[in-house]
Amino acid sequence: TDPIHIVGGGLAGSEAAWQIAQGGGRVVLHEMRPHRATEAHRTDGLAELVCSNSFRSDDANGNAVGLLHQEMRRLGSLIMRAADAHQVPAGGALAVDRDGFSRAVTAALEAHPNVTIVREEVAGLPPEAWGPTILATGPLTAPALAEAVAGLTGKESLAFFDAIAPIVHRDSIDMGVAWFQSRYDKAGPGGTGADYLNCPMDRAQYDAFIAALIAGEKTSFKEWEATTPYFDGCLPIEVMAERGPETLRHGPMKPVGLTNPHDPTVKPCAIVQLRQDNALGTLFNMVGFQTKLRHAEQIRVFRTIPGLENAEFARLGGLHRNTYLDSPRLLDATLRLKARPSLRFAGQITGCEGYVESAAVGLMAGRYALAEAAGETLAPLPPTTALGALIAHITGGHVEAGAESDSNAPRSFQPMNVNFGLFPPLERMPRNETGKRLRGPEKAALKKRALTDRARAALAAWLGEDESPLRAAE
Ligand code: FAD
Repeated sequence: TDPIHIVGGGLAGSEAAWQIAQGGGRVVLHEMRPHRATEAHRTDGLAELVCSNSFRSDDANGNAVGLLHQEMRRLGSLIMRAADAHQVPAGGALAVDRDGFSRAVTAALEAHPNVTIVREEVAGLPPEAWGPTILATGPLTAPALAEAVAGLTGKESLAFFDAIAPIVHRDSIDMGVAWFQSRYDKAGPGGTGADYLNCPMDRAQYDAFIAALIAGEKTSFKEWEATTPYFDGCLPIEVMAERGPETLRHGPMKPVGLTNPHDPTVKPCAIVQLRQDNALGTLFNMVGFQTKLRHAEQIRVFRTIPGLENAEFARLGGLHRNTYLDSPRLLDATLRLKARPSLRFAGQITGCEGYVESAAVGLMAGRYALAEAAGETLAPLPPTTALGALIAHITGGHVEAGAESDSNAPRSFQPMNVNFGLFPPLERMPRNETGKRLRGPEKAALKKRALTDRARAALAAWLGEDESPLRAAE
């Protein structure tokens, strides 16, 4: 059979190549380093970790990324095998010796009889003659290829930066303080007139908040980001605050057209609005709150907002160079570009975020490509697994599966780490042995356990296995 071409030997491309090769397919992997560098890579190794050496939590019962590790190990992931073999002590996290890790991935692929590695830049769309091709060129995709992809998808569908507002788990918002209402009760297309969550501030709270934003510690732009002008409409919130103390209450925090049902007689000085962020309605983004505050500062400052005192963040805000597609619109359920199905995407360019997630999407892209080459159709991954939840987030699968919730408020597609907010909610909240309704940390722990157990059972069923060996392996 013809080989499957993969462009980009990073986390996603390496994993995709391994999955295809192990499944009996042939692969040609095109990697531009060392001939052409990116702004962040330093070596010519495959699967180079460009920043931290952490794969984050390895807890498969209490953490979505730990569960994703476990699922990838089940599916024979090279990235996880190399990470496990080059682990360094990091408490409950899986951290790795980055050079040993990258060398192990490179050596495994170089030694594989089904893999050919070509060190060259693919400086435009892959030739049609290559047939099915996986593009896994990452957040720092070389410009010639990025422009060619933008030509295919439309410029507005390929982002070069992410200006991200924090995203909050809805069930961590205090509804004794916040309320649902759209400004002037307007119901947009498909909306109900109560699509936003609102958090009110009085004058003292607002003034203290503005002062905290201005004083908060910011991350600095990397040198290569410094020349980036801020786009209109996505100024960091602290930059707006610096323009004058009233700027925000005349901008994203304006208090007009909204009435606080908890206390209708008092007019708030400012209101923070959150908009539904995923089809499941489990995540809400803070409207207009893109920021370069340090992560710890964001948690501290944003938890001073009434109603968000106990907010749990699915992701924090940021502004980075990042090439990624508007995947829910552009990709089909198997990660193929609808407009040109011979091109399949994998890794961070699909709008996932993080080393593990990029490798996980590469793993599935490889499996989809291999099945297609063999004329087979892979059964869709259950969205209750971590891998399936991530793919559904990227491809818009939750919407297609009819899981649309009440509100159709406009959503923006932003790169995201895997998190429990991407999983379909449990049908029934778990109870402890006493059968009592639970609260706080006990409830959160039981919920995570129920979600991870459900995921393991779903993956086992998808693999056609009995679930028990998995449990035993925990
Ligand atoms: P990459 O690992 O970047 O792989 C893409 C590969 O494609 C590269 O090897 C590149 O050389 C090659 N390539 C690009 N264009 C071409 C072309 N035209 N032809 C041939 N080859 C090409 N995630 C974390 O979990 N933790 C972090 O600490 C972290 N820090 C980050 C810091 C920075 C500066 C950036 C940009 C991202 C960071 N990420 C981090 C996010 C992300 O997880 C990583 O970028 C991850 O490596 C993405 O995996 P990938 O396979 O999609 O892309």
